[in-house]
Amino acid sequence: MREKSKQSKLNSEVLYDENGDRIFTLENKKDYTLLVPSMIPLHFRLIKNMLEKIGYKVQMLDERTSSIAETGLKYVHNDTCYPATLVIGQFIEVLQSNKYDNQKVALVISQTGGGCRASNYLYLLKKALKKAGFGYVPVLSFNLSGLKTQPGFKLKVADYLNLLKCVMYGDLLMLLKNQCEPYEVVEGETIKTVNFWIEVLNGEFANSKNLKYGHIKKNFALIIDSFAKIERNIVPKAKVGIVGEIFVKYSPLANNDLEKFLVKEGAEVYVPGLTDFVLYSAYNNVVDAKLYGEKKVVAFVSNILYKNILKKQKDIIKLIEKQGSFNPPTSFDLTIKAREGYINEGMKMGEGWLLTSEMIELIESGINNIICAQPFGCLPNHIAGKGMMKIIKEKNPKANIVAIDYDASASRINQENRIKLMLSNARENLE
Ligand code: SF4
Repeated sequence: MREKSKQSKLNSEVLYDENGDRIFTLENKKDYTLLVPSMIPLHFRLIKNMLEKIGYKVQMLDERTSSIAETGLKYVHNDTCYPATLVIGQFIEVLQSNKYDNQKVALVISQTGGGCRASNYLYLLKKALKKAGFGYVPVLSFNLSGLKTQPGFKLKVADYLNLLKCVMYGDLLMLLKNQCEPYEVVEGETIKTVNFWIEVLNGEFANSKNLKYGHIKKNFALIIDSFAKIERNIVPKAKVGIVGEIFVKYSPLANNDLEKFLVKEGAEVYVPGLTDFVLYSAYNNVVDAKLYGEKKVVAFVSNILYKNILKKQKDIIKLIEKQGSFNPPTSFDLTIKAREGYINEGMKMGEGWLLTSEMIELIESGINNIICAQPFGCLPNHIAGKGMMKIIKEKNPKANIVAIDYDASASRINQENRIKLMLSNARENLE
């Protein structure tokens, strides 16, 4: 196979593999720009900088034309999950616009590597690109499962650890922003504080200085203190948790700017952090070995990683509690327990049991108003999300949960009207 791949050399720079797919070489790394869909914008501002530090040129895509879903549907089958339709539509529109030099870009798509359909999206994207006349554009898979690697896009263990730091910083900033913004006395002060910290953290990453955990922990405390200094007018507001499939939960493109809409409607938003998803993925490897006989060595390494991240999450929780101005996130070991009596830990396609757990955890922490964001075509999350709502409401009569479908043909007005109805119940309960 390798021989065949070598023979497919077309010229000194452009190489294709035996399937006719572009190879992204080490040489390409120097002058290509990686285009990355901006799933969770705040975190990705840190991640972009971290990737640039290790030699990649990166452009986060925040194009949000109303035709993206339509473009996606032209090039993928209409039963494809909505997140994939959007990501593929966005890539193709960007290439069609010639905004960047198409001969010098590579597209990055994330894959979970599990049994969920996301594991196939790399192939779906390649097929769509060929159909749209962009088969020459290299596609890179970002995954933690060793799926389809490219010679010019290989991250080291240290890079993954730095990515993790970005995720934890991003989660903290997102949590504090959501608890300050709806109450700020001086409009824009919260965003100013977020931007200030992103600049500071990016500077530290760029200089490779102070990346030791002791310094990071000090930063966590300083970040919390600086948000606590923002003057807030604490009036009672409905608190709304957002759960759901990872892309529609976080991406303003996919959920029609849900967070902004809720703040505009007078609510305080709580979105569980990305760290939970990382912990969920590590914990699932342990479950896989226990329930399905998967490799014990993977479970062993994952367990070490899990414990290490959990300890850091608990550090953040303690710092927030000590400072005293904000509500901390729930520690992930309690998130695991929350699903008990509702769903089995063997149910781990898509967000699986995590989605159910997050709803319970929100209710247990006093946030009864929940939006469960469900994309079209997402069977696992319909089961763990919408499918669990009846039993959750039976066991927790105060739960005010609404499932919102995100779909190429769904009307934004309709989605917002359903959310407004949920909010009016939330306000009644508040009174
Ligand atoms: S989690 Fe849902 S939307 Fe995401 S790939 Fe899997 S089935 Fe599709």
